[in-house]
Amino acid sequence: MSKPLIPRPKSEFLQVECPDCNKVQKVFSHSSTEVRCLVCNCILATPAGGKCKIRGKVIEPDKKE
Ligand SMILES: [Zn+2]
Repeated sequence: MSKPLIPRPKSEFLQVECPDCNKVQKVFSHSSTEVRCLVCNCILATPAGGKCKIRGKVIEPDKKE
């Protein structure tokens, strides 16, 4: 059963590395609330009218050799 191609949703989950403790955590790109590190509780993303502003380092997904 094949599905027709659907456009990519604008929202996605990003892998964000905490600038303080280097813990990598999934962050919703359009989160409407602050996202904090689960380990050290520092702010990883803040809402910015739609797409949120990522404070940490975004790890590119699916970068395979
Ligand atoms: Zn942290």
